[in-house]
Amino acid sequence: MSDIKHYEVVIIGSGPAGLTAAIYASRANLNPLVIEGIQPGGQLTITTEVENFPGFPHGILGPKLMDDMREQAKRFGTEYLYGSVSSVDLSQRPFKVTIDEKKVVMAETLIISTGASVRLLGLESEKKYMGYGVSACATCDGFFYKGREVVVVGGGDSAMEEANFLTKYATSVTILHRRDEFRASKIMLDRAKANPKIKFVTNVVVEDIVGDGKVVTAVRIKNVKTGKTSEIACDGVFIAIGHNPNSGLFKGQLELDESGYIITKKSSTETSVPGVFACGDIQDSVYRQAVTAAGTGCMAAIDAERFLEQQKSLIHSEVEVHQ
Ligand code: NAP
Repeated sequence: MSDIKHYEVVIIGSGPAGLTAAIYASRANLNPLVIEGIQPGGQLTITTEVENFPGFPHGILGPKLMDDMREQAKRFGTEYLYGSVSSVDLSQRPFKVTIDEKKVVMAETLIISTGASVRLLGLESEKKYMGYGVSACATCDGFFYKGREVVVVGGGDSAMEEANFLTKYATSVTILHRRDEFRASKIMLDRAKANPKIKFVTNVVVEDIVGDGKVVTAVRIKNVKTGKTSEIACDGVFIAIGHNPNSGLFKGQLELDESGYIITKKSSTETSVPGVFACGDIQDSVYRQAVTAAGTGCMAAIDAERFLEQQKSLIHSEVEVHQ
């Protein structure tokens, strides 16, 4: 007998979207399987205080919020599998999902909530010094910069949040941004501007990250208006320039937009393949919030449940026609 398990709902990804989908699907008795990915809990597990998730007037730590969501879905019968999906075959239903290139599960419906990953500058020196002065996670690495000078690259909310957080440890934090207007929300920008440890250098791009062969010692920047290059001495470079959607697995099988986000139908989580639904940051380049991800996770579970019901009633009506 085959040991390939068959599920009505398989959810790929375990951030707020995937776990909310799991809560709803398990409460509908669909016994979903969540394939957790390499970072169970998703991006919120590497953040500190989440201040804007409704229901927590005093904030909640990101990892705690994700642990609680996981527990909540487990209570209703969600199964978890630690591993990463290495391939999917969406050419026919049930869909074939391969995990870590060996384990296979079959899915009547698939909910994709693979989120997005940090975007990097793409410099050789960035690769060379990653973990030795270059980081994309202040929460993970900020502690190592006690009494040091750091720069943060970016002009969005992530850059402001990282910079503010880093002032707990660093003596000074310089935000380097390629324009003089900021994508960051007013409240986050104002908070960073009011922080005496934070300086801003605008209209600059990072040309290179300079080091002594072991650790970072400076960044070389170029002013995009004057063309002038200069160096800023620093011990750490935190990259906070946004994210890329984790949609590589679905290229050629699902419709993606030009940036790689999965396209879903208006007011639904349906993708271009019937029975495959997408929720959270993988299909949202606009809002990208934990609460919107959770909202679309709920939608995906309801869409999957309705799809399964429709399939069952189709089979019933075919059986009746044949009798
Ligand atoms: P983002 O809003 O897309 O901002 C990315 C920033 O990096 C932009 O300023 C962009 O510059 C810059 N950038 C992009 N590529 C670059 C490159 N190659 N070189 C130099 N700079 C580059 O991304 P985000 O800050 O990660 O925020 C994403 C979403 O999460 C937003 O909706 C945000 O509100 C949300 N968020 C919320 C919180 C919170 O509420 N606590 C915290 C973090 C993030 P340009 O502006 O010139 O394009």
